[in-house]
Amino acid sequence: MTLHELKKIIDTLPSMPRMPVLFVGHGSPMNALEQNIYTRSWKDLGEKLPRPSAILSISAHWITEGTFVHVEAKPKIIHDFYGFPKELYALTYPCPGAPEVASATQEILTPTIVLPDSQWGIDHGTWVVLHHMFPNADIPVFQMSIDVSRSHEQHYELGRLLMPLREKGVLIMGSGNLVHNLGRIDFNEEAVPFDWALEFDTQAKNLLQDGDHRALINYENLGQSAAISIPTPDHYWPLLYALGLQEKNESLTFPVEGISHGSISMRAIKIG
Ligand code: ZN
Repeated sequence: MTLHELKKIIDTLPSMPRMPVLFVGHGSPMNALEQNIYTRSWKDLGEKLPRPSAILSISAHWITEGTFVHVEAKPKIIHDFYGFPKELYALTYPCPGAPEVASATQEILTPTIVLPDSQWGIDHGTWVVLHHMFPNADIPVFQMSIDVSRSHEQHYELGRLLMPLREKGVLIMGSGNLVHNLGRIDFNEEAVPFDWALEFDTQAKNLLQDGDHRALINYENLGQSAAISIPTPDHYWPLLYALGLQEKNESLTFPVEGISHGSISMRAIKIG
């Protein structure tokens, strides 16, 4: 396909009322099998959202050199985790892909080079959530990878450029966890949140309510609790893509709150 042909794709997609944007804390893959306060909230959210024309997921579990979009019409479902019960590996999410919207995404992000990918598919950061949010698996889904070489600011800016997709009914979902420290996890189901997890989750909530994107992008300046909560940025980056899509004065709410296993924030954010 020539660049000239690519340029037309976004215009050929029907316009729809602007779609909200989500950031979802996905937590343990076991959430796919379980019914708990988090999964019930995802289900409620799916019932309240306008029906998307497609879903673009930016998952913490697809980190690459360079940026890719998955372009397969029938994406494979990846069980990218180890040591879980057999039932979890038997679960699937047979959604169609969205190759046309993926091509439109390449187009609107130009001149950033976004390459087509046929290898990845749909990882658990995406399908564990969608299994509850849109259980019929009848909405086309595609993923965009996170380029490990970009700065926090550059992830945020790339997110902002996805804005035209919202006007085409595409639900953009960042999937990670605001607080994500597996090294400090407490496997007790009833685990009480660690002080530092609660402190940073609350600090981030306040910054989100204040619309202080600068502080959230530069989270490395937010002190010790932030540092323990974000030992590596992979689960935090999807939040920056969602925040980049918040228009000035656009509403931001928290459809899910809570800290799982002491060190994993399940906080979800809905913009618009
Ligand atoms: Zn994860």
